[in-house]
Amino acid sequence: MKKKAVFLDRDGVIIKDWHHDTGNHLTKTSQIEFLQGASQAIQKLNKHFLVILVANQSTVARGLVSLEQAQKLNRFLQTELEKKGARLDAVFFCPHHPDFSGNCDCRKPKKGLFLQADKAFGIDFKKSFLVGDKTSDIAAGKKVGCVTILVQTGYGGKDALKKIKPDFVVADLSKAADSIINSLK
Ligand SMILES: [Mg+2]
Ligand SMILES: [Zn+2]
Repeated sequence: MKKKAVFLDRDGVIIKDWHHDTGNHLTKTSQIEFLQGASQAIQKLNKHFLVILVANQSTVARGLVSLEQAQKLNRFLQTELEKKGARLDAVFFCPHHPDFSGNCDCRKPKKGLFLQADKAFGIDFKKSFLVGDKTSDIAAGKKVGCVTILVQTGYGGKDALKKIKPDFVVADLSKAADSIINSLK
C-alpha cells in the first residue's frame, strides 16, 4: 500500500531561515535554531505520516560546504529532533544551483526530491501534504498533487518567485500539523 507523507521544507519551517534573517547561508550546526513548536509538531505528524525533509541546499553548489558537510548538518538536525522525540523518516536535498552547477531535476520548484521519496517509499501524493515557506516549495508540492500549506515563518511566501496559491496559509509548522491532523477526522 502506498504511504501518506508530510513533506517539510527545512529553513523557515523547522529551523530559523538563516539566509532570510542574516543574509548569509547556513553552513554550521551552531547556526541551527529550532522554531517554536517545530519538534512537537513533527512528533504529532509521526503518528500518522511519514515525515520527509525536502530541502534545497545550494551551499554545496556555491562551494560553501562539501556534500559531506551538508549531510552532516542534516544528520545533526535529525539527531537533535530525535532528542526531542521527533522523527524525520528521510531527508532528500538538492545540492545544486543553476548559477553554479547548472540545471538539475531536484531543486524546488522542480519535483525531483518528491520523486526520490516516492522511489524509496511509494507515496500516495493525493493523501500527502507539503509544508513550506516559499512559493517554490508550494509549486513543487502542487506538481506532485500534494495538499500545500504555506507557513508565515521564514520567507512566509515572500520569495515572490511565482504567483502560486497554496491550499492553506497558517502561522507556523505547529498550526500546520494541527490542521493536517484535523483534516483526518
Ligand atoms: Mg524554506
Ligand atoms: Zn538539484
